[in-house]
Amino acid sequence: MLNIGAHLSASKGFLHMGKEAVSINANTFQFFTRNPRGFKAKDIDMKDIERFLEYIQDKGFAPIVAHAPYTLNPCSADKHIRELAQMIMEDDLKRMELIPHSYYNLHPGSHVKQGVDIGTNYIVDLLNKILYPQQTTTILLETMAGKGSEIGRSFEEIKAILSRVELSDKVGVCLDTCHVNDGGYDIVKDLDGVLTDFDRVIGLDNLKAIHLNDSKNPLESHKDRHETIGNGYIGLTAITNIINHPQLRHLPFLLETPNDIQGYAKEIELLKGLYKE
Ligand code: FE
Ligand code: FE
Ligand code: ZN
Repeated sequence: MLNIGAHLSASKGFLHMGKEAVSINANTFQFFTRNPRGFKAKDIDMKDIERFLEYIQDKGFAPIVAHAPYTLNPCSADKHIRELAQMIMEDDLKRMELIPHSYYNLHPGSHVKQGVDIGTNYIVDLLNKILYPQQTTTILLETMAGKGSEIGRSFEEIKAILSRVELSDKVGVCLDTCHVNDGGYDIVKDLDGVLTDFDRVIGLDNLKAIHLNDSKNPLESHKDRHETIGNGYIGLTAITNIINHPQLRHLPFLLETPNDIQGYAKEIELLKGLYKE
């Protein structure tokens, strides 16, 4: 069975997202934990969470994915910006425990002019401060397109973070197909080669989820503009190979394509038809 979902709006709560996911034939979803501007989170509604957990109980859901605000920068040279990132991530992790065994996806951050090594030290320090042994949430570091000074543009940069996190079983990786294409990994012509490289550098057992997006830009463009499935530089053949690949086919695939809910429903139907049961 293809585990698939889409990025949904969290404004109407968890039960609403669960129902919306089921209505488009999905068995997972992603959402932003809070408004990226202002960083404000909604009050916790325990009734909504209870109803959601009850609703999905018998529906074979894969873990859901919370996405940290992308405006956070845990690698900033500014201490206050790093402290804000820490505060928000700590609060998000506390909230995520209300829906146990979920994923918390985050962008490692941008080093701006400090260089990758200093930026990496900051994100490693932050993760070592906020992770704790009892948590059931797994943090996923997202592979990035390498726009500006983004850290995580190569598998080596992701590994440099992972290898220094003390509670290593609390951290994994989310591979974004648009980002790796834009970052220079040729998943169109050489998917096997890219996965071999991922396995050698990071280890495929650390890969926990896929952001399934086409790209508006060619290989190694370092742009990060998502396209609808089959209509970009990655294309439907490569995407079919990705969802069916023996080393990927069991993972949850999350669509972050420019779509409304009907558009997501159509893409999910298309992808389910291309998935070899
Ligand atoms: Fe992201
Ligand atoms: Fe993504
Ligand atoms: Zn992106």
